[in-house]
Amino acid sequence: MSKVLVIGAGGVGSVAVHKMAMSAEIFSHITLASRTKSKCDDIAASVKQRTGVTIDTAALDADDVAATTALIKAVQPKLVVNLALPYQDLAIMDACLAAGVNYLDTANYEPRDEAKFEYSWQWAYQDRFKDAGLMALLGSGFDPGVTSVFTGYTKKHLLDSIDTLDILDCNGGDHGHPFATNFNPEINIREVTAPSRHWADGQWVEGPPLAHKQAFDFEQVGQKNMYLMYHEELESLAKFYPEIKRIRFWMTFGDAYLKHLEVLGNVGMTRIDPVMFEGREIIPLQFLKALLPEPSSLGPRTRGKTNIGTIATGTKDGQQKTFYIRNICDHEEAYAETGSQAISYTTGVPAMIGAALMLTGQWAGTGVFNMEQLDPDPFMDLLNKHGLPWKVEELPAPLDF
Ligand code: NDP
Repeated sequence: MSKVLVIGAGGVGSVAVHKMAMSAEIFSHITLASRTKSKCDDIAASVKQRTGVTIDTAALDADDVAATTALIKAVQPKLVVNLALPYQDLAIMDACLAAGVNYLDTANYEPRDEAKFEYSWQWAYQDRFKDAGLMALLGSGFDPGVTSVFTGYTKKHLLDSIDTLDILDCNGGDHGHPFATNFNPEINIREVTAPSRHWADGQWVEGPPLAHKQAFDFEQVGQKNMYLMYHEELESLAKFYPEIKRIRFWMTFGDAYLKHLEVLGNVGMTRIDPVMFEGREIIPLQFLKALLPEPSSLGPRTRGKTNIGTIATGTKDGQQKTFYIRNICDHEEAYAETGSQAISYTTGVPAMIGAALMLTGQWAGTGVFNMEQLDPDPFMDLLNKHGLPWKVEELPAPLDF
């Protein structure tokens, strides 16, 4: 019997809980806790209607370590799945240590006042989890997450050594709004407006945000402009695969999205430092979040597909080879199955899979782990079984950009 406590009732939490309920043989009992309990109850009702499974719900402020510890002790799960926001990561890790329970998340810890996208704070928990005999799995979403597992699979089965790695993240979906973000706007806009950074010959190369554009023809989506960006899995991939000489991350954006973002940035609406307004401090980006459509409201109106994958060039038996591994996910199919669009789906399904592998002991260990440190094979199998099928293609030549 494997009880799980999921924290965070957003788009990702909703998909993960639906998918867990569909695998009741692994997830025998699910509790969903979040800041706003009514959101947990709405998800519980949808889970009941779609799967027949009853889940428990609870109100929780996960910034409060004592309250989270008390809830974990009351629920007695084998695993806490953190699908709240990156700001809560350390508090929930502290609560897991206090209650003696394993931990999983999908995004690295972020301080509220500065966009960092780095693992240092969570890697610093290594000894504490090890000494407690507990496991923390970091970044079990799509990117980071599946892209890290694709890289592990490439190294295990396709190439003897990897020289260059490109992660290509394309969202070909259209939600019909002039401007909206398809996951938490605060996190999304922080990520997109950060300076670009990629790994080359043992060091980070920085550039201005969204300055380096490249067209690419994505299967089932078509030609899109993608932009060189920093993304957190670059840090762990550079650490765990020191052989890779160049690692880059690319994400597609439409012209309208970028124009809105530019204007919002120019007028100061994407700032994350406090500003005085009518006698009180506000954070402009948090105010903007309140004006934008809720990502969860995009589900019923989003059409099109995501196409996310890795292209790795290296050597196999002394010959240079290039392999492209990718998943294509349809927004409408994701919505029909779970009530959420593909961005939440492609994150919530890997969160469920990481949790399943920890609960069944297929992924086990003590300490803090990134996805690429673990055996890719069982994860790749479950992707095919749970709605995120992938395929491998050998490309005739390395990328020429
Ligand atoms: P949402 O904003 O939709 O949901 C976040 C949820 O967390 C909300 O229900 C929110 O509550 C809850 N929450 C926020 N603060 C607290 C708190 N202090 N205590 C308890 N609950 C809290 O985000 P998403 O579902 O889109 O994203 C969830 C996570 O997944 C994020 O960390 C995001 O960065 C990550 N992510 C990872 C991806 C990957 O590929 N690795 C891709 C996309 C997202 P309330 O409803 O009250 O606001």
